[in-house]
Amino acid sequence: MDPLTTGTDAPRPVGRIRFMNEQRVNLDGFAHEDVELGLVALSSPADPEPSLVVRDGKVVEMDGRAAEDFDVLDAYIANHGIDLSVAEEAMALDDVTLARLFVDFAVPRDEVVRLVAGTTPAKLARVVAMLRPAELTIAMTKLRARRTPSNQAHVTNRLDDPLLLAADAATAAAYGFRELETTVPVLADAPSNAVAVTVGAAVGSPGVLVQCSVEEAMELEMGMRGLVSYAETVSLYGTESVFVDGDDTPYSKAFLSSAYASRGVKMRVSSGAGAEVLMGGAERCSMLYLESRCVSLARAMGVQGVQNGGIDGASVAGAVPAGVRELMAENVMVMARNLESCSGNDALMSESHVRRTSRTLPIMLAGSDFICSGFGSIQRYDNMFGPSQWNAEDLDDWLVMQRDWGIDGGLRTADPQDMERLRRRAAEAVRDVYAWLGLADFTDEHVELAVDAVGSKDLGDPDPMVVLGAAQAIRTSGLGSLEVARALLECGYHVEAERVLEMLVARVHGDHLQTAAIFDESMQVLSLVTDPNDYAGPGTGYEPTPARQREIHAIRQARGVEDLRKDQEGFASDALRVVGPAAPGSDPREVVVGVSPGVGRTVWRTLSGLLVVDVLRELLAGLEEEGCRPRVVRVNRTLDLGMVGLTAARLAGSGIGIGLQGKGTALIHRRDLPPLANLELYSVAPVVTPDLYRLLGSNAGRHAKGATPVPARNPYTDEAIEARYHTSVIALIALERSCVDPQAGPEELEVAP
Ligand code: CA
Repeated sequence: MDPLTTGTDAPRPVGRIRFMNEQRVNLDGFAHEDVELGLVALSSPADPEPSLVVRDGKVVEMDGRAAEDFDVLDAYIANHGIDLSVAEEAMALDDVTLARLFVDFAVPRDEVVRLVAGTTPAKLARVVAMLRPAELTIAMTKLRARRTPSNQAHVTNRLDDPLLLAADAATAAAYGFRELETTVPVLADAPSNAVAVTVGAAVGSPGVLVQCSVEEAMELEMGMRGLVSYAETVSLYGTESVFVDGDDTPYSKAFLSSAYASRGVKMRVSSGAGAEVLMGGAERCSMLYLESRCVSLARAMGVQGVQNGGIDGASVAGAVPAGVRELMAENVMVMARNLESCSGNDALMSESHVRRTSRTLPIMLAGSDFICSGFGSIQRYDNMFGPSQWNAEDLDDWLVMQRDWGIDGGLRTADPQDMERLRRRAAEAVRDVYAWLGLADFTDEHVELAVDAVGSKDLGDPDPMVVLGAAQAIRTSGLGSLEVARALLECGYHVEAERVLEMLVARVHGDHLQTAAIFDESMQVLSLVTDPNDYAGPGTGYEPTPARQREIHAIRQARGVEDLRKDQEGFASDALRVVGPAAPGSDPREVVVGVSPGVGRTVWRTLSGLLVVDVLRELLAGLEEEGCRPRVVRVNRTLDLGMVGLTAARLAGSGIGIGLQGKGTALIHRRDLPPLANLELYSVAPVVTPDLYRLLGSNAGRHAKGATPVPARNPYTDEAIEARYHTSVIALIALERSCVDPQAGPEELEVAP
């Protein structure tokens, strides 16, 4: 059904509208702004006026509400979330003055952070709402905590298959993700997933943090046992009513957070626009203001960072005006409060590739602690959080976008040759560890399937009870990551055992509990403390090292002339033979086909994939159908198609010639025309078919007989022909040019039948 048709008696729109209705963006839902429902992005009339009154070191009024009327969020923020030593100074700044500090290169990050610590939720929301999109990008560049940007992946599959999870975790680590998040479709499988992803990550790289996002008690238990190394799905909400509906308070969340931190587990909370709207508890406030309360709470709780930017509610924000801008503003608030930002780009918020790129690009350009808080490193259908904004389908796009802009989006091209080795080692390591620990037995065939699988659909139909049994055994045996390291060691995976152990050691040191901490690949902690963002305008801040820049540039699709020369040599044959120098003919039925200098020497195949000799055979057959006498010559002096065609026409008894370049571009010429003129032209070589070449031959024959044929036309195409073929064209022209000899005359060729 037409997605925009609202009633059966609505008049049928014109074709242009019907055509637009069918485009992908119109699969998305869009809402009118509606304050009553909280469907409003940046500011609502119900948002409070910022205010702060402090008496005897206690907050007695905040954002228009007296202390005796505080709800639980107000009370928590007022008691723990505002730096009263700077509050008076910060709250006295007018909104514009404070907003300008966010983007002023002369003002260091530390100064913004110092002042923002003294602001109330309403104040910070108002200030950030003033920033235009380009200013948000600058603010993010300047305010994120860590200098080096990074990225987080989802690693899940529909079957919770441990071998596939391990192979995919190793793959994600090889692509450069520094945090891997898994979850389960079947809760009881969780411990098995945590072990499989931990082992796979250790195969891919040292220092990859692993999370298994499940029900809070089980997740905490796995954290205690070292089966996961970070947590981030402790959810905060911007209104008390929604908190209470979820059977929680800021105090219970703070307690849970400190439980993680007490065991050296990296810990951040999750919030983001839309959650309160979806639960009907937005209390008429804007999404940005409610999120500002969450960010203030996170600061007050002392957690390391915040995953926000919509998350599960991203499409709710995306449905209202300026909603995507609001999502980015959420991340900037986190950074300004000196917390790690895991900046959304997580749940898929649009079916439109244009829209989702538009939503992510400014954050990718600015750089964030984690640009995506859940890039689906697996296929969309295997993403058990639901499809991500970016998925395995888009990995190459991401890598190319990094290269296009010359920026670090946290990823790199994994060596395709290395991929099979890594995936095999990961799958085998999990199989061996599970066998050694007595958890499950997997067949060699299963390993092979997991190594090659693009997703769980490629695994056949494994028994789901095997995973469940393994998970139960892990849980009841009390097994932790020390036992996993031991099993790896006993099974001969020394490097991986070491890596799992190193992560346990790191938990004792606790350096990665600093804000915005990741491990680099030599287990160095990069954080606000060891790698602070020092952006202060052009020429400062993070710049990829030369080695990292080479990684960003080195996409596997880039090719050069030598690659193409080898390709072309693979199609070389003896089907074109030189007969001798070509002389002018006199037969009025003679039509000459001129080919460019590289044909039969360096160039054998056209851009459409047809062999040049096959194209010639079609042209000759077309000429013969018209009773003409064809002759083929190679023009050696020039590769200009017009001159090749004109030279052929001047050699032909009829005065009609066909010019053909090795790449497949072809035209009909006549000896009395200027070089740049022609009778008919196929300019889009990649889409010319054998039938069309035959038609061009026939038409040349009809011209030779003095007729006026219906001109041959380029076929329809809506593809990015130039983007696809320009690099090949440049290389082909280089191959042709190497054969040009300005002194050499044309030579006659024989085409093998
Ligand atoms: Ca995440």
